[in-house]
Amino acid sequence: MTSVLHTEGLGKKYGRRWALSDCDLDIPAGHVVGLVGPNGAGKTTLLHLAAGLLSPTAGAISVLGGVPGDGPAQLAKVGFVAQDTPTYAGLTVAEHLRLGARLNPRWDDALARDRLARLGLDPDRRAGKMSGGQRAQLALTLGIAKRPDLLILDEPVAALDPLARREFMQGLMEAAAEHELSVLFSSHLISDLERACDYLIVLVDSRVRVAGEVEELLSTHHRLTGARRDP
Ligand code: ATP
Repeated sequence: MTSVLHTEGLGKKYGRRWALSDCDLDIPAGHVVGLVGPNGAGKTTLLHLAAGLLSPTAGAISVLGGVPGDGPAQLAKVGFVAQDTPTYAGLTVAEHLRLGARLNPRWDDALARDRLARLGLDPDRRAGKMSGGQRAQLALTLGIAKRPDLLILDEPVAALDPLARREFMQGLMEAAAEHELSVLFSSHLISDLERACDYLIVLVDSRVRVAGEVEELLSTHHRLTGARRDP
């Protein structure tokens, strides 16, 4: 089976500093992958490399069997929701959908409208007038409606309150299951990830320290510590 993300000795340097070093990953498709690490660990750098927004300084990366960002087919397969500006404050919900339809060959307008109606988002409302939670849900809906095989999200809940974080995570998990979507998203808080993801990457000081299926990691933890599983 094609890996959703495969890297070998991947590294990225800004000036003289390595933001990501010696990164070896091989993640099968179909997972919700959480990427966790403190500020400055290299999370955004790895996500930008996977989305094709940056080129590696060292090593190799393939996403869904292709070179990130290489041509229209590869671009259509991968959705990217950026950290700070995934929506436009001056555009209405409906205008965001029209833009999405123009820019994305696989655009699913019915899916977008249905999801936004379920969320109670008024098509005529400008993104700048929405709450942070609503704006994050709009960005997630736009990402899903591109019908990518992999959706990458950079710290999607960092600015949200606890209730909006939980609602967003719930929506993300449901969308992944419903649309057979692989997901790769980052957070600097493990609590955002523990319920949502089934594959975990821990990045610290530019290096991958832990990577694996959550079930396996928990089994290893329980074996090493003698801890019992919750009933
Ligand atoms: P955060 O949670 O703060 O967003 P991060 O884990 O996403 O952090 P990166 O943004 O990937 O980390 O940054 C990794 C390191 O690379 C940091 O030390 C950062 O200052 C540095 N860095 C990131 N982008 C650049 C750039 N364009 N030029 C120079 N240094 C950069």
